[in-house]
Amino acid sequence: MDLFGYLEKYDYEQVVFCHDEAAGLRAIIAIHDTTLGPALGGCRMWTYASEDDAILDALRLARGMTYKAAAAGLNLGGGKTVVIGDPKKDKSEALFRALGRYIQSLGGRYITAEDVGTTVQDMDLIHMETRFVTGVSNAYGSGGNPSPMTALGVFRGIQASAKVALGSDDLAGRRVAVQGLGSVGYAVARYLREAGAQLVVTDINEDALRRAREELGATVVAPGDIFSQDVDIFAPCALGAVINDDTIDRLRCKVVAGSANNQLAEDWHGDILHQRGILYAPDYVINAGGLINVADELEGYNAERAKGKVEGIYQIMLDLYRIAETQRIPTYQAADHLAEARIAKLKQVRSTYVQH
Ligand code: NAD
Repeated sequence: MDLFGYLEKYDYEQVVFCHDEAAGLRAIIAIHDTTLGPALGGCRMWTYASEDDAILDALRLARGMTYKAAAAGLNLGGGKTVVIGDPKKDKSEALFRALGRYIQSLGGRYITAEDVGTTVQDMDLIHMETRFVTGVSNAYGSGGNPSPMTALGVFRGIQASAKVALGSDDLAGRRVAVQGLGSVGYAVARYLREAGAQLVVTDINEDALRRAREELGATVVAPGDIFSQDVDIFAPCALGAVINDDTIDRLRCKVVAGSANNQLAEDWHGDILHQRGILYAPDYVINAGGLINVADELEGYNAERAKGKVEGIYQIMLDLYRIAETQRIPTYQAADHLAEARIAKLKQVRSTYVQH
């Protein structure tokens, strides 16, 4: 791959190749932008088909984190680590401690966290070598499982979306289709029920469906039928790329707002939602509650303060929808504009006060 061409195109700051033969470590730390603060992003462990795939994944995910943190109003930049290896076979104390030393060597420019393929225990090993790690055990001052905070943020984002698309953020009597009743989806469904919404749900896990029927009075439908439900709001909380060629024409909702990452299969699916008058809550903004919670650890975790910041997603969504309306652009583009504008403004502030 043309690595420097890619770095130049998207304005990356730094890529660190981490290698330790004795520890079996082969990892890439990508730092996209530290204008707003240290680059924070998880550590993914995966059996990549090629080194280029691993590098590209680190780069792509790091840039995504810059936008997510900026839009969430956090004083953090974007970064990501990928470790090349099989999380089931290749983990060791030596590997994570070697990685921890690399992270320490960056002096705080990058802060890591859990991600696909890594766990709290892995973060604890990294923590033995560096303090630039979040998502460690509670004993070290962690904010714990981020899913409840993600769910709270998604719920507040749904309320803001309802206010704009349906004229009120009161969800009593509104029909909401929830796809996926996992750690986040079930908690979102519970908030919705408490707010008086009527739920239509789906999952591939029978236990989750039974619970939703019994505890939340939800109507259960087959996974393939969730898209065509006659509802006010569709909340994708399972998989990515659910707004795609096969599903987009079946939607009968006025709002798409849920926790899943990368909901639009392609950007132009966001354009189609816009043309059809379906309000799309950009995924990386509405699902930032977990990141906001993790970021709070950096100031010494305080659950009440973290919760307050997560609730701020309501206002962020309203600001974003206003940008989309005044600039007459789809909401997914407005999210990028919001993030880019914040970075550009703070870049200016910082350069103004540099001492020569
Ligand atoms: P999870 O694994 O706990 O839940 C996913 C649920 O989706 C499971 O109950 C699973 O059975 C169900 N599911 C899988 N395939 C399905 C299908 N075809 N149809 C219907 N249901 C299906 O995951 P989670 O932590 O709740 O995360 C849900 C989504 O939110 C993911 O896309 C994740 O990337 C995103 N997200 C999560 C967090 C977080 O804090 N956990 C933060 C940001 C984004």
